[in-house]
Formats: sequence, structure tokens, C-alpha cells
Amino acid sequence: MSVAARARRDALSPPESEPLTLRGFFGVFRYSRRAIELVWSTNRPLTVWFAALTLIAGVLPASVAYIGSLIVDGVVAAIRAGGAGSSHVITLVVLEGVLVAAIAAAQRGLTLSRSLLRVQLGQRVNEMILEKALTLSLGQFEDSEFYDKLTRARREASSRPLSLVTRTFGLAQNVISLVSYGALLARFSPWAVAVLLLAGLPAFLAEAKFSGDAFRLFRWRSPETRMQSYLETVLAREDYAKEIKLYGLGSRLLDRYRDIFRRLYRADRALTVRRGIWGFVLGLLATLTLYAAYAWIALSTIRRAITLGQMTMYLALFRQGQAAVSAILSTVGGMYEDNLYLSTLYEYLETDVAPSAGRVARGPHPEDGIRFEDVSFAYPGAETPALEHVWLHLKPGTSLALVGENGSGKTTLIKLLTRLYAPTSGRILLDGEDLADWDERALRERIGVIFQDFARYQMPVGENIGAGDDRYFEDEARWREAAAKGRADDFIKTLPAGYHTQLGKWFQDGRELSGGQWQKVALSRAFMRTRADVLVLDEPTAAMDAQAEAEVFEHFSQLARERITILISHRFSTVRMADQIVVLDRGRILERGGHEELMRLDGVYARLFTLQARGYR
Ligand code: ADP
Repeated sequence: MSVAARARRDALSPPESEPLTLRGFFGVFRYSRRAIELVWSTNRPLTVWFAALTLIAGVLPASVAYIGSLIVDGVVAAIRAGGAGSSHVITLVVLEGVLVAAIAAAQRGLTLSRSLLRVQLGQRVNEMILEKALTLSLGQFEDSEFYDKLTRARREASSRPLSLVTRTFGLAQNVISLVSYGALLARFSPWAVAVLLLAGLPAFLAEAKFSGDAFRLFRWRSPETRMQSYLETVLAREDYAKEIKLYGLGSRLLDRYRDIFRRLYRADRALTVRRGIWGFVLGLLATLTLYAAYAWIALSTIRRAITLGQMTMYLALFRQGQAAVSAILSTVGGMYEDNLYLSTLYEYLETDVAPSAGRVARGPHPEDGIRFEDVSFAYPGAETPALEHVWLHLKPGTSLALVGENGSGKTTLIKLLTRLYAPTSGRILLDGEDLADWDERALRERIGVIFQDFARYQMPVGENIGAGDDRYFEDEARWREAAAKGRADDFIKTLPAGYHTQLGKWFQDGRELSGGQWQKVALSRAFMRTRADVLVLDEPTAAMDAQAEAEVFEHFSQLARERITILISHRFSTVRMADQIVVLDRGRILERGGHEELMRLDGVYARLFTLQARGYR
């Protein structure tokens, strides 16, 4: 079966349940150690407390049962002796009371340290996720499978890691209890211990198996879950509300949302029902065993093999032992789910990021500018290249305009130039040095760029501009300078709080700007980079009027005495001002030259230019 066919099949039918293997079984514990390490490094004193309290809460119940038996035997002896020894019994009762109080205290302490740890751990994991996100490449963000990992990791970051730790400790607590019950019960008969454990074993195995199936189910449907949460976003977010209303998309999308649920529910139901039935049957087995043991213990008491006090103790031990076994079962089930989460988290955190190997901060030939040498590029997974055999040379002090239909590769060329992606073949040189060898920071400082889909930060307008240079993020004088260059100054002055006006609708008193105003803000952002000598405008001026666009570009070019300006625009009135115009078509350079030259050539450029010019006449 081909990879694609297999992927299709996997996408259509739920994964089959797998036979239980030893590896699958121990898979439950795979991430426990890492979870504990995580908690340990988050807050050591609290972790120690947590462990100590777990131990105490694990051992105490058996001692309570033991003292209970001493009390019953003491009472029986005291009745026989006509009241002698009653103070001994009272002491025991007090002791039991103290122990029970201690159990309650330990449990409270566990709850307390758990809440504190949860908050800290949630924050820690979120920070780890975000720190990692900063090191990722654009390609990784655009890879849906990877993005899936990131969202899954983020979604449950505040609860899952602690849950796994709680369960691991809870498991330890129950195992400790079980061992201590077993030690006492063994005095009655080692067989009783064996019966207790063996009666739990089938349920344990079943639980491990079903949890494993649930684990696979969860993974398999993750793309659908993602679609579901995407639909939620579309249906409930303000930025989509306009279109959803006007196009009446709401009920159609809601139907899709329901469909996905139905499909997921069916698979879920099958598993839940199977799990429920087996749980009932195996639980029945446990109850039967308990009552068989009950009869056995009662008969032994009648035969006077054990005392009345011992009988109460053994019964309590057996009952509590079974409770511990079933607690262990549900813990194991939960641990599978937590493991699922942690495996995603660690897969995400351990994703390789290509180290930026470059160290060069300055090229050998600053006068050479930018060179594309036979550059080709295909997006990962794409069948046709987005750029093919591109040769380009831009000297400092010149400007370039890229022209071409949508999808002809203009933005891709910019992404390569800004090293958001690396060429599939060929190379790009800046100042005579391969782009790949440049130091990340030095390179970023050289290039100022505004993309078509620039970010609209829900922050004060000043910070929206300051974002262009993180050293001056909060420097109001520089905001003003940049805003003047980006033509944003005038309208910002009219805003209620000037440069400190909150933008966007997410937060209180936020002001929404018009498309053109946002573009001016974005433009000003690029002007924050006073030291950047390569400036790229990827259609950021499309929402401005033609006059404003032309002014901006002129301004750009003036500022750009020694700079390189690259402009992507569909407005030929601006494009014609560039020193060099490149026409791209399906990833290839079709024509190049100055405006006059291209007009003389009478090719695609001349045709498009005339077409647009006619529209203005
Ligand atoms: P332009 O900027 O000229 O409109 P682009 O450079 O954005 O065109 O796109 C060039 C080609 O690359 C198009 O065919 C587009 O479908 C494809 N493409 C763009 N971005 C991506 C991406 N992130 N992943 C895969 N393919 C992409």
C-alpha cells in the first residue's frame, strides 16, 4: 500500500485495537519519570512535601485497621475480665483517633501542595512551550502536523503534567497501602494475599488495554478535533463575525461541527461501551472474591483460628485492599491519557530546530548588495517549485519592484531573502557572503520588511510602531520619528490617547483602525529600523490611495540613498518608479529592466501597464 493510500485509510477508520504487549503495558509509566523531574525542578521543597505526605497517607490506613483489631480484642478481653483493662482500650481508641486525624491532615496537605504545584507547573510548562516556539522556523509553523502538536501541547499545559505526577504519587500511595495491607493479611494466610492480587489482575490488564486503545483513538482523531476547534474559532470570533453574518455561513459551519462530533462520538461510544461491560464483568469477579474471602475469614473465626478483632481487621484489609486495587486501576487508566499529553509535549519540545550556524556579521563586499544565484525553491510537500532558477542582482542604492500574478512567487522570494526559508538549490548572497553564513541577529538588523499580512498587535499604537526595533520598543521619541516617515503621524494625533491609544477590540477602550491606517502603522514599524539598509514592502500599501502609495515609495527611495528597496505592488504608477522591475510568472523571471526598457520590449509588463493606465484615463 502506498504511503498516501495508507494515510487515507488511517484517516477514515479508527485505529484497530491492539493486543496487549508488555511494552504497551509499561508504556503507562514511560513519562512518569520525566513528569517527576519536571515537578522536581519546578519546586523542590513542595515536591518533597508532596512525596512525604503521599508516603504517610499510604501507610496510615493499615495501622488504623491494625489498631482497630487491637481495640476489638481488647474489648472482648475486658468483657471477659469483668472490666479490667478498659483504660488500655481507651488509649487505643485515642490513638486510632489521632491516626485518623493524621490521615485527614496528610490528605489536606496533599490537596494544598497539589494546588500550589499546579499553578507553578502550568506556568512553567507554558513558558517552555512558548520559549520553544520562539526558536521554530516559519516552515514548522506552516506544517499542519507540527502545528497540531503545538496546539495540543498548549491546550492542556496547565493540567496534564501535574495530573501525571499526582497519579504517579497516588499510585505509589495505593501501592504502599496495598503492600502494608498485604503484610498484615499474610499473617492470616499468604493465599489471601494472592487471591486479593489475582482477583484484581484481569481488571488491571483490561484497563491497561482499553486505555491503550483510547490513547490511539485520541491520536488518530487529532486532525478532526483540530478542525472542530477551528470551526469554534470561526463561529465565535469577532474578526470572522462580519463574513459569517453577511454570507449566512453560520448554520452550514455549525452542521460541519456537529458532523465531526457525531463521527468522533461513534468511535468513542464503541470504546466506552466495551470498557463499561468489561469493567462490570471484572468488577463482579472482584465482589465474588471479596465475599468468598468473607466466608473464609468468618469460618476461621468460628473455628477460633483467629480472634474477633483479627476478623474485623482482615475483613477491613480485604475490603480496603480491593479499594486500593481499583484505585490503582483507574489511576493507570488516567496515566495513559496523561502520557499521551506528555508524549506530545516532549515530541514538540524535542523537535529539532536547525541551529543557525552562521557567525558572520559583515560581508566582504558591502558594495555588492544582494545577489540571487540560480535560486530555486519548493515548499515542503509541494510538487511544483514556487521559484525556479532566479538570478538577481541589487546594488546598494537601487530599488526593485516585483510584478506578477497572485501566486507567481513574489512573497516567496522575500521569504528567502529574509531567510525565513532556505533555497532548495542555488544561493543568495548579501554583501558577498552567503545568507546561510550570516549571524541571525546581524542579518535581521539589516532587513526591514512589512508583509502583506503584517501583524496587528492589540497593543498601544506606539508599541505597534516600536515593535519594529525591539531595543526601542518603548521609546516614544523614536515612535514619532518613524510615524512621521510612515505617514501615520497625522491620524495618530487625532486618537484619544495619542500614541498610547490601545488598538484592536480585544481589550477595553481599544480603537479599531481602517485598513489604510493599519498599513501606515505597519509602514512606520519598518521605519523604526533606522539601520536596516534593505527595506521590503510586500503590498503593504494596497489599502492606501494611489497618491499615498506613491509618496511612501518616493519617501522610501529618498531615504534609501545607500539602501536597497524592494517593492511588491500591483500599482504600476508606483512600480514604474523603481530602478529595476522584475516580472515573475509561475516562479520564473519573465522580463526585467527599467520602465522605459520594458515598455520598449512591449511584452507582459507593457501590456499590463497600458491596461491599467487606460483605466485611469
Ligand atoms: P505571490 O506573493 O506572488 O502572490 P507566493 O510567493 O505567495 O505568491 O506563492 C507562490 C506559490 O507558492 C503559490 O503557488 C502558493 O500556492 C505557494 N505557497 C505560498 N506559500 C506557501 C506555503 N506556506 N506553503 C506551501 N506553498 C505555498
